[in-house]
Amino acid sequence: MKSILNYSHHLLEEIISPGETVIDATCGNGNDTLFLSKLVGETGEVIALDIQEQAIDNTDQLLVEHHCTNVSLVLDSHENIENYLFKDIEIGGAIFNLGYLPKSDKSIITKGESTVRAIDTILKHLKKNGRIILVVYYGHEGGQEEKNTILKHVISLDQKQYSVLQYGFINQKNNPPFIIAIQKK
Ligand code: SAM
Repeated sequence: MKSILNYSHHLLEEIISPGETVIDATCGNGNDTLFLSKLVGETGEVIALDIQEQAIDNTDQLLVEHHCTNVSLVLDSHENIENYLFKDIEIGGAIFNLGYLPKSDKSIITKGESTVRAIDTILKHLKKNGRIILVVYYGHEGGQEEKNTILKHVISLDQKQYSVLQYGFINQKNNPPFIIAIQKK
């Protein structure tokens, strides 16, 4: 069975092609951004957002080390993602790695309402069979509320338009992360 990290990447690998535009909604230390950058290649683009300068700097450094030139880094909340997208742009896929920046201020966390707003904006631009992947960490303070808000929202998405998958290990201790994947039909 694939780990949460491997499965989140696998779900994107299956549907993203070179040349597409994709989103890392929480770039953090840049690991998912780097992965997406390689997937879409030189002809594609990654739009990577974070609200912390530290995260943007860390991601930038990682991208420079790997000679990636196809990423637009945005210091802003993902709930404002519409401001950085052309009106008719088609998005191949997106990832949200929720929670706080590892080894940093644990009080700066993703929040349910803004996450849901960002999901809805991206869904409008998502290609047919495109996917939004959410890796949900909820062991920290505020995590449970975000988890509940997101689950309530994605469970209510119309099954005629979207398939919604939950993937996680149910015998692990200490609030293990899980994946929610939304695929547009
Ligand atoms: N994917 C990252 C990686 O590979 O290193 C890890 C992301 S970390 C778990 C979560 C990130 O979300 C933090 O860097 C935090 O600053 C960021 N964040 C919190 N609220 C946000 C928001 N509203 N919009 C964008 N990023 C946000």
